[in-house]
Amino acid sequence: MRAFFLLFAVPLLAAAAPLPREVVPQAAVLEEQPDEGGRKVWNTRFFRIDSDMELPRNQLLRLAQVADTTAIAVKGYPLPLFAPPEGLRARIAIHGDPAEYVKAGGFHGSAGFYIARQSVVLVRGDFLMNPGDPSRALLPANYDEDILVHELVHLCMHRQNAGLPQWLVEGLAEYFACAHSGGGRFAFGDMDKSVRDHLRARLSPQDPKIPAIQISEICFVDSRGWLRLVESLPQEERYQAYAGSLLLAHCYLHGGTKRFEALEQFLRLPPRERKGGAFLPQDAAEKTQEGIVRYWQPRGLGVNFRPSK
Ligand SMILES: [Zn+2]
Repeated sequence: MRAFFLLFAVPLLAAAAPLPREVVPQAAVLEEQPDEGGRKVWNTRFFRIDSDMELPRNQLLRLAQVADTTAIAVKGYPLPLFAPPEGLRARIAIHGDPAEYVKAGGFHGSAGFYIARQSVVLVRGDFLMNPGDPSRALLPANYDEDILVHELVHLCMHRQNAGLPQWLVEGLAEYFACAHSGGGRFAFGDMDKSVRDHLRARLSPQDPKIPAIQISEICFVDSRGWLRLVESLPQEERYQAYAGSLLLAHCYLHGGTKRFEALEQFLRLPPRERKGGAFLPQDAAEKTQEGIVRYWQPRGLGVNFRPSK
């Protein structure tokens, strides 16, 4: 593992394939379909949106644009990530009533939520109706849209998620959320800055040092273990698990050709041949973590990795 780890000590190497510099949204596509089961239905380029509430057309257009551009960004990324549900269009279901949203499986207090079993991203309609409304006082508007991007990345990777370690699933989703600057615009040109600013804004606006859950605790967990870990943390500390996963994913995407190629190979394995927890073994976690700390220090981001308890 030593040579692997040393990659951090040399300047950033070019990735195996060029990263897309940016993805600029095209005109939104929103085609009204006949109602189904009392729900309004629209098709976008990639998705089917259905809703139990009326929504202003401009909000729907923006949702369609964010969703389709997210799909285009995931598809254009030089890794085999894009694998949406097969057959039918990937579905985005809007629930006007927060209680209905939770009943459908949405995580309480979230703006959007991906449910793997149903191949759907649930979206809370009241968040779409009043973006940035301070009376909701949960999250700033751009956070809601970033959460939407995060959940849509899960949906775009639907058939690819199986067998991946959950830090990778979450880290990749959060990576695209970092690259998203609003309204479906993605820029990959300066991901170090995007990741740093994203983490600092969420975790420590006043202090260049952010807390994150240590790598040895996240590197082996599957999706259930991830939920258990996140739910064991106090609400205000939960994002620290995502911070760890994001930094780790970034390390594989931007930490040199060798890491990038190892990740690519792993992603090309058929899901049943993947041993998610073995991709980054726990005994290599500490070295990797030290490398991450050293990488970010001169780039304006201190990382204080910590145990979850
Ligand atoms: Zn997620």
